[in-house]
Amino acid sequence: MKVLIIGSGGREHALALAIAKSSKVSQIFVAPGNGGTESGNPKIQNVKINHNKEDFHKLTQFAVENDINLVIPGPEQPLVDGISASFKKIGVPCFGPSTVAASLEGSKAFSKDFMRKHNIPTAEYKNFTDYNKAKAYLESIDHKVVVKASGLAAGKGVYIPNNKQEALDSLKELMVDRVFGDSGAEVVIEEFLEGEEISVLAISDGYTVVQLPAAQDHKRAYNNDEGPNTGGMGAYAPAPVATKELLAEIQNSVIKPTIDGMRKDGFPFVGCLFTGFMLTPNGPKVLEYNVRFGDPETEAVLSLLSESSDFFEICLAACESRLDSVSIDFVDGYAATVIMASGGYPGNYEKNKQIIFNSSVIPGVTIYHAGTSKLENDIVVTNGGRVLAVTGVSKTLEKAIETAYSGVKTVEFDGGFCRDDIGHRALSRIND
Ligand code: ATP
Repeated sequence: MKVLIIGSGGREHALALAIAKSSKVSQIFVAPGNGGTESGNPKIQNVKINHNKEDFHKLTQFAVENDINLVIPGPEQPLVDGISASFKKIGVPCFGPSTVAASLEGSKAFSKDFMRKHNIPTAEYKNFTDYNKAKAYLESIDHKVVVKASGLAAGKGVYIPNNKQEALDSLKELMVDRVFGDSGAEVVIEEFLEGEEISVLAISDGYTVVQLPAAQDHKRAYNNDEGPNTGGMGAYAPAPVATKELLAEIQNSVIKPTIDGMRKDGFPFVGCLFTGFMLTPNGPKVLEYNVRFGDPETEAVLSLLSESSDFFEICLAACESRLDSVSIDFVDGYAATVIMASGGYPGNYEKNKQIIFNSSVIPGVTIYHAGTSKLENDIVVTNGGRVLAVTGVSKTLEKAIETAYSGVKTVEFDGGFCRDDIGHRALSRIND
């Protein structure tokens, strides 16, 4: 069988390596891929095709010409742009939601209305398409709010203002100045929630839904959760805060009602549903849905997949509405992922720094590539802000973190940095 994975991050490298373990898969193409998907595993190779809407026909043509049996889009934009429909037209299974189902991520206004309709716990909110009405609403309330662009904004469209003036300024930026273009044509103003956050990835065929181990990530650039927000500087799973009882509550009050609600509304959700939660004193509440694997959560979570679980079979079964026929098991242990980033990230950073890997095999460590490229002479250089997702797996979380950092020590590139405290929240919980 042949698989086409779309994207170029650490998530896509992790997806490719998980799929490569299947004895049924002979070849994996990653479009456009990175330096890691270009080297090391003989089953995996890159294809120079991007995934903008204008490139969809090149991807479908490639799938036809190469007898692709399964497509897995990594990032949200192609899903929101309708890539699943493009592959449906040519009869190639695509592990990802339809354009409308992708609105769970593509339109926060849609997802909030959906949650309200199906009684799924989330922050109180109002949606606005009229700036003056939104402004009048903000002026009329006194509680702390979060102001969100409804459309996609690469994780930057959420404002947490400290006072009313800041809230009004954020609203203006989004709706009048249009700093995120049409993504700010509609905004969601919602109640500010307090608590700890967790992420739950779940795989669904539209009927059956299987939760993967819950993860926690680290959004801020520097130690002690300081500095600017990033795409994520590390993650670990399973998160100790997610007890069996909490996971059951999440499954019954959120994940299952979401999958059932989407099907009942006529938009069955096929693919990976990523739900971000705030664990409030009144129970878990949904902060956001993503309609694809998260990054770096995926690097941690997929590292825990047991040898007996065939990830290719799992994704194909989800596309063929028979997820209940496959087994998904995880090893009894923990995974921790540490992101090594380019100096200056998430601001400006230089590219093309040579990456030196001082050791090829470190027990328990997988080095997933994110922003890297391989040059013709086999040299690997940096090519993005988040460069590598170094992941350690071990019996305990403490050991998994230690293992990940032992991997970090074997890699060098000019200006590279990582946080030294990935997992600190979980470790202090365990040690309490
Ligand atoms: P990303 O794709 O980077 O996860 P996003 O743009 O889809 O982000 P959200 O996940 O909705 O946006 O929000 C980003 C972050 O803002 C959350 O992880 C959380 O820390 C904070 N946040 C969002 N909504 C609320 C809320 N109602 N109360 C408190 N914090 C919130």
